[in-house]
Amino acid sequence: MKVFNSLTRGFVELSPVDGETVRMYTCGPTVYNFAHIGNFRAYAFEDVLRRAVKFNGMKVKQVMNLTDVDDKTIRGANAAGVPLADYTRRYKEAFFADLARLNIEPAEVYPAATDHIPEMIALVARLMEKGIAYRSEDGSVYFKVREFPGYGRLAHIDFDSQRTGLRCAADEYDKENVGDFALWKAWEESDGPVGWDSPWGRGRPGWHIECSAMSMKYLGETFDLHTGGIDNLFPHHENEIAQAEAATGKEFVRVWMHCAHLRVNGEKMSKSLGNFFTLRDLLEKGWTGREIRFVLINAHYRSGLNFAFDALENARRALARVDACVEKATDGETPGWASERLDEFTAAVNDDLNLPKAFAALFELVRDVNGKGGGGTLPVFRRMDEVLGVIFFGRAAKTELPEEVRRLLDLRAAARKARDWGESDRLRGELAALGWSVKDSRGGQECTRAVDAVK
Ligand code: AMP
Ligand code: ZN
Repeated sequence: MKVFNSLTRGFVELSPVDGETVRMYTCGPTVYNFAHIGNFRAYAFEDVLRRAVKFNGMKVKQVMNLTDVDDKTIRGANAAGVPLADYTRRYKEAFFADLARLNIEPAEVYPAATDHIPEMIALVARLMEKGIAYRSEDGSVYFKVREFPGYGRLAHIDFDSQRTGLRCAADEYDKENVGDFALWKAWEESDGPVGWDSPWGRGRPGWHIECSAMSMKYLGETFDLHTGGIDNLFPHHENEIAQAEAATGKEFVRVWMHCAHLRVNGEKMSKSLGNFFTLRDLLEKGWTGREIRFVLINAHYRSGLNFAFDALENARRALARVDACVEKATDGETPGWASERLDEFTAAVNDDLNLPKAFAALFELVRDVNGKGGGGTLPVFRRMDEVLGVIFFGRAAKTELPEEVRRLLDLRAAARKARDWGESDRLRGELAALGWSVKDSRGGQECTRAVDAVK
């Protein structure tokens, strides 16, 4: 399996150091709000990546951090007048519900920053001992960027030639150099009750140290793969490398992979620009997790992807074609032409996760099955879906509807009988928010769990 390594800017064969398990770290959400679908582009890419690793017969140990202490979470908790942990809990839960709706496989470990403060303090202490970190007057601790050889290696920026420029602007800071970044932030009035005692005084960890400390705790001082959105590459990932390698003297990560942004009208989808949709926003509009997943993964992960509702409509049509086709597929001996489609699919996945090409192989298979019949093709669909996670395998797996869902469905049936389409749509939204999707057919309303609609 060949992938693009952001560190070397070249392709490498992805293989675990221990010959068995790919140890990967993925930067997770800051749990101060609902994640938007731009964030989910990154998590869906990482999901496809871990699935592809397993598809190739390797094992995966994935760690995804939850940033539950930073400026935004503290501000949110203090504004709401609740303890930090209560404030972030709600968004952690929402995050896991959203992952399930997008059929994103759970990582092996989800460490929360607030559960690992001692590990972070220990790492900062190690950097202080090595003399590559210093305490400023206010009690914050900074990393001496200019003393770490090779700083800028990941971002491919030559910092040596920019030194003077950095020094000029440094006066107004507590830092010795403007490029230095905080490992530990001294407590401030606005932090309110949030803070931990440390050898440097009360405060809290910087964001970058969180990922170095938790990744090394669960994956070892050198591990295989580290991923994130492209905006994480600098300075966050550059700083992670500096912190880890300055402390251990060993190579931190062998392969770095980054996905391009999800954009809206040419701009990065982000909270600060206000141009975002959360997953909930789209579910309430009646789109399923499966359709959204399709849109997020059906572009090459290193290409920009512009979000538009047409794409969701295309996804709905494409998936309906696949669903209808899979109903004709059966187990049995796989015909040669179907194996060829699987070979094309595999080659595309192993060519740096070329999902547009992989999907093309799936659609070719659909065309072939529609022409030649589906005998023996079910194993091929199943195998492809190990990576894609978007195929719906039959309506056989019917589940019991919870009472609240039945109540809403009854109300909706009554609304439709009275031709009150507004109310009918509103109730569809309520059902979607509970994780159920409803379709109208001649026989009445067909209701499936969002996770089933995904699968
Ligand atoms: P954040 O909560 O901002 O730290 O982001 C969490 C993850 O989502 C990181 O891996 C980011 O790189 C990624 N991310 C944020 N915005 C986008 C976007 N518009 N498109 C793709 N990935 C994004
Ligand atoms: Zn990180």
